[in-house]
Amino acid sequence: MEEQLIQVLKRHQLRLTSIRKEVLALFLERQEALSQHDLEEALGEVDRITLYRTLRSFEEKGLIHRAIDGTEKLRFALCQGLCTAHTHQDDHAHFHCEQCSRTLCLEETQLPELNSPPGYKINQTHLILQGICADCQMQQA
Ligand SMILES: [Zn+2]
Ligand SMILES: [Zn+2]
Ligand SMILES: [Zn+2]
Repeated sequence: MEEQLIQVLKRHQLRLTSIRKEVLALFLERQEALSQHDLEEALGEVDRITLYRTLRSFEEKGLIHRAIDGTEKLRFALCQGLCTAHTHQDDHAHFHCEQCSRTLCLEETQLPELNSPPGYKINQTHLILQGICADCQMQQA
């Protein structure tokens, strides 16, 4: 694990700090989108500003992306390796579970090609799916 953390941080040109390692470990472990609040809860004693800066630098370096999920919470999710500094390629949908409130990347669900209206330049497209996640459906069954 430690080795993996170091490699990922290096690949994204991020200096090793303990907070960066801890935050990255959480993203790898949880495999879901996390808000700053989620991270604060998981990490316990943590300086909010340091955490905020950590998330910003991860985003800048192509390590995490914003998982826009239709809620007012800003969540981030781990990128799948194609992203580099300033060039994110996270063209997949995000799923938000109405029951457990988790947000997940749907890597297999690609964004559809859309015709943009004449004269408009589209920089970003977000596809949000909402419903009940597989885990929650299993619990109901
Ligand atoms: Zn990305
Ligand atoms: Zn759920
Ligand atoms: Zn995502």
